[in-house]
Amino acid sequence: MAEIVSYRKAIFAALQALLVIAGLFPQAESSPASNGFQAEREQMIRLIEADVRDTSAYLKRSALDDRVLAAMREVPRHEFVPANRVDQAYQNRPQPIGHGQTISQPYIVAIMTDLLQLEPGKRVLEIGTGSGYQAAVLAALGARVWSIEIIEPLGREARLRLARLGYDEIALRIGDGYYGWPEQEPFDAIMVTAAASHIPPPLVKQLAVGGKMVVPVGSRFSTQELILITRTGPDEVVTRQVLPVRFVPLTGGH
Ligand code: SAH
Repeated sequence: MAEIVSYRKAIFAALQALLVIAGLFPQAESSPASNGFQAEREQMIRLIEADVRDTSAYLKRSALDDRVLAAMREVPRHEFVPANRVDQAYQNRPQPIGHGQTISQPYIVAIMTDLLQLEPGKRVLEIGTGSGYQAAVLAALGARVWSIEIIEPLGREARLRLARLGYDEIALRIGDGYYGWPEQEPFDAIMVTAAASHIPPPLVKQLAVGGKMVVPVGSRFSTQELILITRTGPDEVVTRQVLPVRFVPLTGGH
């Protein structure tokens, strides 16, 4: 009897293998967006966790929200870098994306996302769509995302990429993000992914009371400070310097 069972099992396994080859049998890893590079993504998460531990004095915590790490495990970062950089996509480094711009380092994406303390359904405005990677991470967390990019070809590429990967809920606009997206205010959170010379007042105005904004502030020629702003009342904000960072500059006419 045992022999018959194992014989049947062997036949079933062989059939299953054939069906997998034919692409007919559902595999464990079935999400099309995250297919491939699982090991690389897992390694990226470990590097982020190590950097968070090393900078815990700045961050005032030694581990990030599990949901932020889960979102970063899910988003296929290799889809957001140029084709000739796919093999470097999961290194804990920024990567060039053309037009003199970069997709931020995974550790930076993780801590900026974590600082916003987002719950599913929250409304988030991102300034500097770039590749669309950060917007996808915010969407993977369950946030509703609006994102503005000033360089038209980058904005158009990001729109096509996000649609192809199934991030249909992200609203994109090409324009100067310094002025925010007034038609959609207030936002529960705002993330600026380019270095501003000062905290943009129009963005503070579009932040809901109780909302949080992260923005790198400082000169384009030196290290900037990542600032966390909490709007505590109609005319009141609390700011905290989190840590030194280096971003491409926020451009535009302001
Ligand atoms: N968040 C992006 C990386 C941002 S790089 C990602 O995940 O890939 C910074 C981006 O900000 C660049 O694409 C740059 O063109 C854009 N940017 C700079 N100034 C801007 C402005 N005033 N309004 C909107 N986008 C701006």
